[in-house]
Amino acid sequence: MSEELEAIKKILIRERLARKQAEEIIEKKSLELYNLNQQLLKANHQLEEKILERTKELHEKNLQIKSNEERINLAIESAGLGVWDWNIEKNNLFYSEEIAGLDGYTKDEFLSTFNSFFDIIHPDDHDKTKQGIVAHLKGETKRFTVDIRLLKKSGGYLWVFIAGKVIQRKGNGEATRITGVYQDISYKKQAELDLIEAKEKAEYASQAKADFLSTMSHEIRTPLNGIIGTTNLLLESEPNQEQLKLLNALKFSGKTLIHIINDILDFSKIESGKIKFENEVFHLKELMDSVFSTFQLRAEQKGLELTFKCPAEMPKYLFGDSGKLIIVLNNLIGNAIKFTDSGSVKVLGNFKYPKKDEVIVEFSISDSGIGISKENYKKVFESFSQEGAYINRRYGGTGLGLAITKRFVEIQKGNISVESKVGAGSTFTFSIPYLIPKNISKTKKEIKQTTELLYDLGGAKILLVEDNPMNQMIA
Ligand code: ADP
Repeated sequence: MSEELEAIKKILIRERLARKQAEEIIEKKSLELYNLNQQLLKANHQLEEKILERTKELHEKNLQIKSNEERINLAIESAGLGVWDWNIEKNNLFYSEEIAGLDGYTKDEFLSTFNSFFDIIHPDDHDKTKQGIVAHLKGETKRFTVDIRLLKKSGGYLWVFIAGKVIQRKGNGEATRITGVYQDISYKKQAELDLIEAKEKAEYASQAKADFLSTMSHEIRTPLNGIIGTTNLLLESEPNQEQLKLLNALKFSGKTLIHIINDILDFSKIESGKIKFENEVFHLKELMDSVFSTFQLRAEQKGLELTFKCPAEMPKYLFGDSGKLIIVLNNLIGNAIKFTDSGSVKVLGNFKYPKKDEVIVEFSISDSGIGISKENYKKVFESFSQEGAYINRRYGGTGLGLAITKRFVEIQKGNISVESKVGAGSTFTFSIPYLIPKNISKTKKEIKQTTELLYDLGGAKILLVEDNPMNQMIA
């Protein structure tokens, strides 16, 4: 019995132990479960928060998109733009209301395939539209833009600007969708056309003015040459002292007038772009000597010292327009003498060689005359401008000489400038690039041959044809 009791006791102890263990396990597992549950709740909470956050973000994004869309629509509307979208594969052309409206069509009447849209484009604009689109579809241009005329429902054409860009391509690069904007530019086009018309009118008026000046100069020159020629004939007919004085005055006035007329003619030619430049080989020293001798007498008469200085090493022959160089030198030396009452006029030559066959010829003409104020440096090179009214009263002139000189120098890719001080004289400096003729010995020979040919004319009879009776008499 005690053995049985002992056994039952042991069983009870084991059971109690087992229960305790089981209770401990249950407690542990419950705790784990509780913890898991807590974690799950926390995760769930976090997820809900994230969803809320995301929903808010999405809502804000949607609002942003909507306001952007509204802004774009407003911008498009205020710019008077229409939007179009062409699905190339389906040949379906979408357009906003404005496009149809611009041409006076309703949306239903407007054309929804590209081909039918093409039919209302002005025939003269077909080619440029096709070329523009094809080039863009091929990827040759960043965007497609074109100004074309579209047929309005009410008749007549409307100028429009169309711009577009491919926004979809297949894997092989083939464009499948192109979209863009469209704008009524009739006002702009009309303004452009008005501008072109105004420009043409202005050009016509300017041409008419130049033609008038040129014709008048020619017309005045002919009788003037007659007056100078007749004066020369009278000067040769042994006039008495009084007559000689009057005839010289007549000759001087005639020559001054011819000079003015020549200036006007040159100026009108420059203005109308009709000035021509001759390219020929010329002997520089001979040219300078002839210019110098022209002015020597005039300088002597005014009691001025006139000097011409050039470095010993200077190019003999140049290739360019000798006539224009003479005019430039004449104008500058003529002015220097004219505006100098005492002292000297010095002409200095200088030569630079930027290349083997090129020389930059620079001349500076300095005088000890009345000078020019610094603020008038630029002004004196403008046409019809003189330093002041008193200059014209005292020295005469047209104010064209320097304008012509500057243009002649600049058209030949040269430069001209002035340095001066009122009462202390002026220095005008200009430079012009010339080519040095390649085969100088051959050139010399050619020049010699032409000169010989000219001298060979001795004894020859000359037939002079002249329709002007005055000129016939003088000739
Ligand atoms: P013009 O001599 O017929 O008046 P130019 O165009 O040759 O016309 O000269 C414009 C003006 O520039 C002259 O009226 C004069 O005021 C000024 N000018 C030109 N050369 C000189 C000079 N060497 N000294 C002082 N003033 C000059």
